[in-house]
Amino acid sequence: MRIDYLTLFPEMFDGVLNSSILKRAQDKDMLSVRTINFRDYAENKHNQVDDYPFGGGQGMVLKPEPIFNAMQAIEKTPETRVVLMCPQGKPFDQQLAQSLSESEHIVFICGHYEGYDERIREQLVTDEISIGDYVLTGGELPAMTMTDAIVRLLPGVLGNQQSHEDDSFQDGLLEFPQYTRPREYGDLKVPDVLLSGNHAKIEAWRHEQKLIRTYEKRPDLLERYPLSEKDQQILKTYKKQLKSKD
Ligand code: SAM
Repeated sequence: MRIDYLTLFPEMFDGVLNSSILKRAQDKDMLSVRTINFRDYAENKHNQVDDYPFGGGQGMVLKPEPIFNAMQAIEKTPETRVVLMCPQGKPFDQQLAQSLSESEHIVFICGHYEGYDERIREQLVTDEISIGDYVLTGGELPAMTMTDAIVRLLPGVLGNQQSHEDDSFQDGLLEFPQYTRPREYGDLKVPDVLLSGNHAKIEAWRHEQKLIRTYEKRPDLLERYPLSEKDQQILKTYKKQLKSKD
């Protein structure tokens, strides 16, 4: 996978791209990254990239020329995904991370100031994405957040291929509770089933816990999850137990 970041602050990426999984992916030649400062593509004497909004109003707007010129200089394919970081975009989630992880080339356009000249959005972009309903100062942190979520899905990037398959959201549910040594911490014990060595029972317990946890923390996810009859039964029993405790 090749990722290009159009940004006014390339130095922000250094620590994140050169650590942990993202570094490992580059060391294994599974990922190549490049930051491009679109200020270098400005067409005026002072390399100005922003200007006052037509019609008046607060703040400065990113001009079209630097971003159009920088995009022109990037080698693209018809499949390149050009992602505009934008609080008005489609909310980023695991499904979108999965879909982007299937592309060979992604360009992230990181905004700043009040926003972009609308012609950038209209002409250059395949996806407009937001990382949540809040406004950050720039698109760099969102682009790095998305990069991490996308790259860890590339086959072979994580040490154990299983390790993202059990993650929350991967199958539409939250992950089951995890325990490690010691078996007893004070009077806090690891559930017996996890020590039983019976894999079928462990799988069944984990699935049950995923359903219960999702019901408790993110019931909205269950509205989209195809509950089997058995799942419905598990939740019914759990709700009954809750009621009897009241
Ligand atoms: N005035 C814009 C609005 O109200 O939609 C917000 C501009 S924000 C200060 C500057 C830039 O930060 C945006 O153009 C975008 O690139 C990035 N940004 C801010 N919040 C974001 C979010 N939640 N998701 C993705 N990008 C975001």
